[in-house]
Amino acid sequence: MAYKNSVVSLAGWHPTCLYKGMKLHLDWSAYETAGQGDAYAGIPASGGDFAKAVAVCISDKQCQRKPKGVMCPSFRATDETAHSPGGRVQVLKAALNGELGEDAFTGQQLADAMELCVGCKGCKRECANQVDMATIKIEYQAQRNEKSGVPLRERLFADLPQQLHRYPVMRRIIRWRNRAPWLAKLGERLFGISAKRKLPEPSTTPFVLSSEAYRSMNDFGALSKADSKDVILFVDTFALHFDPEIAHAAHQVLSAAGYRVTTLQPDLFDEEPERALCCGRTYLSLGQVEQAKREARRMQLALRPALAAGTPIVGLEPSCILSLRDDHLKLGLGEEAVALSKQVYLFEEFIAREHDRKRLALDLKPLPGKTLVHGHCHQKSVGAMKSLRKVLRMIPEFDFEFIEASCCGMAGSFGVEAEHADLSMQMAELDLLPALRAAPDAAILANGFSCRHQIHEGTQRKAQHVALLLRDALKEKTC
Ligand code: SF4
Ligand code: SF4
Repeated sequence: MAYKNSVVSLAGWHPTCLYKGMKLHLDWSAYETAGQGDAYAGIPASGGDFAKAVAVCISDKQCQRKPKGVMCPSFRATDETAHSPGGRVQVLKAALNGELGEDAFTGQQLADAMELCVGCKGCKRECANQVDMATIKIEYQAQRNEKSGVPLRERLFADLPQQLHRYPVMRRIIRWRNRAPWLAKLGERLFGISAKRKLPEPSTTPFVLSSEAYRSMNDFGALSKADSKDVILFVDTFALHFDPEIAHAAHQVLSAAGYRVTTLQPDLFDEEPERALCCGRTYLSLGQVEQAKREARRMQLALRPALAAGTPIVGLEPSCILSLRDDHLKLGLGEEAVALSKQVYLFEEFIAREHDRKRLALDLKPLPGKTLVHGHCHQKSVGAMKSLRKVLRMIPEFDFEFIEASCCGMAGSFGVEAEHADLSMQMAELDLLPALRAAPDAAILANGFSCRHQIHEGTQRKAQHVALLLRDALKEKTC
């Protein structure tokens, strides 16, 4: 069953809509007609369209089996039906039916049910009725945050991109914390960040745009209409602060392929023009919806000329790009969000698309050895692995194999949270880490930032992004 994934339905939605006293933070109007006329749908008494999104579960328990695939890592790791999508639905329904008391959204039962959902979107893809528990969890967290405030640790993690911009000393503090066990223990006591886990270390120098590459975004629209080989490169928070070489490699590959690459900059009228743009993913995944909207609006403002010109926007981090394509449609941001969702591509999707259109001028050489490929859950959830396979086949004689695995278990901040660190590694041990250990000499490809960190934690091996792989395969490096 497919539900409207369109902002056409936004017309009647407003963030202050009240459904029997419940203000919804996300736009659930795509579910307006879900379950209509179905006496057995069991739509809860409160929650409006959000309740209908919960009630699309038909309790067939498919999510409580353990086939290979993405769904459901928390069920597979715990073996408890309460931690399956269907198990969570039961508690959500009880909460929305008033069975858990007036304060259900701040209560322990709902917290326990939602705690181990890592937001992998596996259920949205693999459950027959596309139960979207990752987004349901965001609404739950937003409801909880509204009533009892944002927990300190969640505020820290969500704000990290901004803090790295405002306080460059954070880079050194994180590196120091990773090397000083006493500091890691203090961090666990104060903030609940697991002392057992290393934190991803920011690069000493974040991504800096070279002066030749920069063109004003406001000039861009006019230039682009006459030039169909324009492309915008969105350097997300993770590439910007942690892995700038990935952004440089993507720039290099796109340029080598004959594209005129403009790196996305804040609009001149942006309230913080010095701060890099961010899709707001770190906020959204922790239920901080208003902050996510603020970041999304900054992106919309900057992208206005490119959206008007129909220019493709290419990004590197699956969770960021697929937020722009999917999650932002639930933020009530209007037609520009829809236009953006249709114009944004993962790097590998864009390369594959242009290859199919025979517009790509990439001259690639063979790369030695075997490479194991781990897909980010969100890449898998939208079927983007096909594009990745196509791109890898463009490298002559390239020997690669996709690992059949669920979520790596890192899932943003989940894996470094003290109470979740062990379960996070158990998720990685389900399929991913054994497959990597079985091929100790293989190179590893993983486009997800969290996945690369988890792989490094579990194997001490460094995984790389496909942009770096393609850069290495360029016959002649352009810069
Ligand atoms: S979440 Fe999906 S797979 Fe699980 S019981 Fe509900 S409908 Fe079935
Ligand atoms: S989003 Fe992932 S972890 Fe959460 S219920 Fe769905 S399959 Fe399970």
